[in-house]
Amino acid sequence: MKRICILGATGSIGISTLDVVARHPERYQVVALTCHHRIDELFELCLRHRPSFAVIGGEASVSGLQRRLREAGLATEVMAGPQALMDVATLPEVDYVMAAIVGAAGLLPTLAAAREGKRILLANKEALVISGPIFMDAVRHSGAELLPIDSEHNAIFQCMPAGYHAGKDPAAVRKILLTASGGPFLTTPLEHLPRVTPEEAVAHPKWDMGKKISVDSATMMNKGLEVIEASLLFSVPPERIQVVIHPQSVIHSLVDYEDGSVLAELGNPDMRIPIAYGLAWPERIESGVEPLDLFEIARLDFQPPDLSRFPCLRLAFEAARAGGTAPALLNAANEVAVAAFLDGKIPYTGIAEVIDETLNTLPSANADDLDSVLAADAEARRFASRQTP
Ligand code: NAD
Ligand code: MG
Repeated sequence: MKRICILGATGSIGISTLDVVARHPERYQVVALTCHHRIDELFELCLRHRPSFAVIGGEASVSGLQRRLREAGLATEVMAGPQALMDVATLPEVDYVMAAIVGAAGLLPTLAAAREGKRILLANKEALVISGPIFMDAVRHSGAELLPIDSEHNAIFQCMPAGYHAGKDPAAVRKILLTASGGPFLTTPLEHLPRVTPEEAVAHPKWDMGKKISVDSATMMNKGLEVIEASLLFSVPPERIQVVIHPQSVIHSLVDYEDGSVLAELGNPDMRIPIAYGLAWPERIESGVEPLDLFEIARLDFQPPDLSRFPCLRLAFEAARAGGTAPALLNAANEVAVAAFLDGKIPYTGIAEVIDETLNTLPSANADDLDSVLAADAEARRFASRQTP
């Protein structure tokens, strides 16, 4: 029996994780669930999955939820605040931590779990992008098992040589081919982009996800963050990572070997595939995902990304090459800009402008310790916020 803490249980990845976990009650037990402020949803999840701990990450009083759980006959203990997220992620009785908080807010609990040697199911790519080598060193030193949940990285992991562990230099890999759907604006006339609305931007053609990652997919900043994520997880420089637009999202990514073999993982676009893989690795379990029907798909298309349509992808490649605190600056500016776009404060095309301005103004420094990274994150947020009044 493996005991699980789900950080970000009320989100898209959190709900998909609980769906897979509930299919295998003989294998998995839910120990802790966390939310930000959707307390009613956390309450419902507690009724269904009966965790020992429920954590409200944001500002909220513990007593209301605690009383409702007691009245429902549950012994679940309610806690609140950022420290409580770290506490449940490092509980001795927790074996696996699903890191599914969105954005930098997930960094400290995910890093704490890595330092504690847990199995980390990493969906929260921003945590890795910000902390980079610090995170990978924590995994190496503690012996934590790092399993990528981002579908592309999970596919790449599956295509790596037998016995491969995240962070190891992969033998005989020429390059990594990172697939991208191209998002909802792949063919939208460029002159229309300044007028696209948040509703249009979050309507992803293939994947059903949280709002922030949906906007990132539209701008392709998501792919940019994934380039940085892949270079850290698989120890390959950004020059050996090629982004391939593949609108059907059936091939989740590929690994190109020196002998000319190219290995890929295919499946329906459903996050329960990588989640089930991460939970069961090195075994495999049923995930609830429909079998792939190649005749229904009929064809697979590929094209290179157009960087004038997707300037965020170019900015991310630049930050990846610059290293140091540049990825943290990029990520923080993007989080601020995406929130401002969703709030109607800046146009869609303003997202790349805010990030560009931030990276042009703030110098990248060494990212040897967590304090430098957190300081860069805070400074970029302050700077970007001034561009998004
Ligand atoms: P979501 O918005 O649906 O859910 C986010 C979760 O994080 C929620 O449970 C929310 O309560 C919690 N949260 C948000 N802000 C918080 C804060 N400040 N403190 C504590 N908790 C907070 O997002 P999602 O789509 O599930 O994505 C989660 C992560 O997984 C992201 O990093 C995303 O990039 C990554 N990811 C998601 C998908 C997907 O298909 N949804 C695919 C690949 C990677
Ligand atoms: Mg992805």
